[in-house]
Amino acid sequence: MAQGYLIALGSNQRHPVHGSPRGVLAAAFAALDRQGVNLLGASPVMDSAPVGPTLRRYANAAALIETRLDPDDLLDHLHTIEEQFGRRRMGQAWRSRVLDLDIALWSGGAYAVSGLTIPHIHLRHRTFVLGPGMSLAPDWRDPITGLTLRHLHSRLTRPRPLP
Ligand code: AMP
Repeated sequence: MAQGYLIALGSNQRHPVHGSPRGVLAAAFAALDRQGVNLLGASPVMDSAPVGPTLRRYANAAALIETRLDPDDLLDHLHTIEEQFGRRRMGQAWRSRVLDLDIALWSGGAYAVSGLTIPHIHLRHRTFVLGPGMSLAPDWRDPITGLTLRHLHSRLTRPRPLP
């Protein structure tokens, strides 16, 4: 049965062939439209401040895909794509971050089996996931809070009064 997923894409390194992080994401969209996966929508790419110790800026985007793959098989497929882009595991830590692909949402709802959690645990706290995601599927509801991506995004970005 065809299943829908919202994928969060991130890159903060140049690639020898694809160039800047923006070029990496353009190539990643193409890679997400092969081998039993259909790319239904690609968001604009946004630049965001780095998370963690690295000082490189990130390019982030979201993709709406359709596939018959179950969540675990799709995660394996995404890891294969990441490795094709030169991302290598060193023990448990990621050494390089040429391309990061996460499953943000799944049409089947919530999923939590053997280390894979959908919705992604950071979905509700990251404008660089919610912004691009909202541009593709504003009315998709987070199965945990019941809130749409549009609502989650505005909750995170609306101005707040000073304390
Ligand atoms: P990261 O280094 O952030 O890409 O984390 C990769 C690992 O996070 C994967 O190997 C998964 O085991 C785990 N993980 C848990 N939930 C998710 C998710 N929704 N999407 C992708 N990876 C996930």
